Amino acid sequence: MNFETKLIHGGISEDATTGAMSVPIYMASTFRQKKIGTNKYEYSRSGNPTREAVEDLIADLENGTAGFAFASGSAAIHTVFSMFSAGDHIIVGNDVYGGTFRLIDNVLKRFDMTFTTVDTRDLAAVEAAIQPTTKAIYLETPTNPLLRVTDIAAVAQLAQSHQLISIIDNTFASPYIQRPLDDGVDIVLHSASKYLGGHSDLIGGLVVTKDKHLGEQIGYLQNAIGSILAPQESWLLQRGMKTLALRMQAHLKNIEVVFEYLKQHPMVAKVYYPGDPENQDYEVAKKQMRGFGAMLSFELRPGLDPERFVENLQIITLAESLGALESLIEIPAKMTHGAIPRDVRLQNGIKDELIRLSVGVEDSDDLLADLQQGFDSLN
Ligand SMILES: *Cc1c(COP(=O)(O)O)cnc(C)c1O
Repeated sequence: MNFETKLIHGGISEDATTGAMSVPIYMASTFRQKKIGTNKYEYSRSGNPTREAVEDLIADLENGTAGFAFASGSAAIHTVFSMFSAGDHIIVGNDVYGGTFRLIDNVLKRFDMTFTTVDTRDLAAVEAAIQPTTKAIYLETPTNPLLRVTDIAAVAQLAQSHQLISIIDNTFASPYIQRPLDDGVDIVLHSASKYLGGHSDLIGGLVVTKDKHLGEQIGYLQNAIGSILAPQESWLLQRGMKTLALRMQAHLKNIEVVFEYLKQHPMVAKVYYPGDPENQDYEVAKKQMRGFGAMLSFELRPGLDPERFVENLQIITLAESLGALESLIEIPAKMTHGAIPRDVRLQNGIKDELIRLSVGVEDSDDLLADLQQGFDSLN
């Protein structure tokens, strides 16, 4: 089955008992057991048919063998990190989601896990960071908000040669754009609150594994920790996912137009977009991505006020989050990355005047007109 077909017919796409074309929302905490130990479902934390449907779907889409749904992307990340123990060392991309840094710095370090952050585009730096206690490499590509692209196959191979578990947060791309398990990565995870849900109406997280033993470990932790996705959200997420390909096609078409517009605009100093042939990661992106994702960031020329610009937009919505039908814009330094100390942020290349744009599926002429009136407001 090809990807577009899997979105519609993959996983468990209809109700086995009635043939209903949508798996019902099974609002049940527990299930009658005719004989002890023979039931497929016993208790909804351990397994729920609606959640199982969306879990099977994401496993199919990422070409894995087991999928797991969580209450949020953050819960998914926490559960994956719970595989590790005190004394374990993990290499982390230096440009990962702010909430992941928060989890690492303020929660996991209290359990005596240690971390080294590196630019995972630099394979030599990744290799140099490996210690005798290193257990895993964790990264995002493209990153947030500078859209840096790491060679997935190369990192997966490096991890394999050192018996490390490779983990990729695939939120910014979605499985439409790239499927890291195919490149040898061990664990893929998502904030389903973004492209997979797609409609700005739910919070959820997903994890996919290929290896049987790893899948059993994640399944055990999902049940032990219990931060599962509820049946209502599971249903809503599956419904959203069915249109992922249609939405991504519209996102990708729009971002090309928006990129070309921003690139030539006299008030824009720099555009960060992996689909820009002048971007240093362009070749790697072209090799491993289908399209270049629908996120870009840009800097206004010095002296122009980014806050005034974003606050004056009408259609493009000033909001955190991404991957929605709606175009969403934000200033990382003030919003999503506001918790990172300024010097650390600047060191990582995230300037005060940087603006991040998640290009939605509105008509592209309307998006350009909105951007233009935003620029006009700066005069
Ligand atoms: C939003 C996001 C998360 C966290 O997901 P939640 O669903 O908000 O908990 C993790 N990683 C990335 C890349 C994200 O964009």
